Amino acid sequence: MPQPLVIAIDGPAGAGKSTLGALLASRLGYLYFDTGVMYRALTLAALQSGLDLALPAAVEDLARQIVIEVTSSSVDDGRPYTVCVDGHDVTWAIRSPEVERGVSITARYPGVRREMIRQQQAIGHRGRVVMVGRDIGTVVMPDAPLKIYLEANLDERARRRAQECPQQHDPRPLDEVRAAMALRDAMDAHVLRPATDALILKNDGLSPEAEVDWILNYIERNR
Ligand code: C5P
Repeated sequence: MPQPLVIAIDGPAGAGKSTLGALLASRLGYLYFDTGVMYRALTLAALQSGLDLALPAAVEDLARQIVIEVTSSSVDDGRPYTVCVDGHDVTWAIRSPEVERGVSITARYPGVRREMIRQQQAIGHRGRVVMVGRDIGTVVMPDAPLKIYLEANLDERARRRAQECPQQHDPRPLDEVRAAMALRDAMDAHVLRPATDALILKNDGLSPEAEVDWILNYIERNR
């Protein structure tokens, strides 16, 4: 295949999408765009505004009002990028357990998804982008020439996420991380499926570098 201008990476929480996406984007000189950040930023803004997350209308209104910006890292504290909502830095706050508990609720609302998808497509259509999420290959960029769906078992995913937590200023016990992840898998099931033309990568035990090499070889082989 010619070098794909959009690469979609989907899969459940903790499957290694972000690490793979960031590495692949840097090897190709592409923009790395983690769409989950937008749902998290909206959820944080809703919590901070005192909204009841169970009531869709107000959350959907907020989704249309707030300005979410993701820019290259502005502070040297281990962050991969900076996320701002209406000009306020929320890079670490969107990783809190409260946001993690709420995000799959707000992400189910049709008005929220419509707005997030509209903004994501505007970025995707510019090209030279690796987009990471749940529904990139199926809904956001269904014409992406290369779609990857990452799978890894729950124990492996929870173990990875628990190890990431100290970097995220929020150490949590493995059991708690595993339970929260299983709940989020169930709540995300409505969007969590591979596109019919996605490559399914089961990555238990495979290093991100090995995955990137495999994908770059795949692109080369199919030119
Ligand atoms: O990828 P991350 O774990 O940061 O995503 C947070 C949540 O945002 C997911 O659990 C899911 O509910 C939602 N999400 C989504 N569609 C996407 C990306 C994330 O529904 N494309």
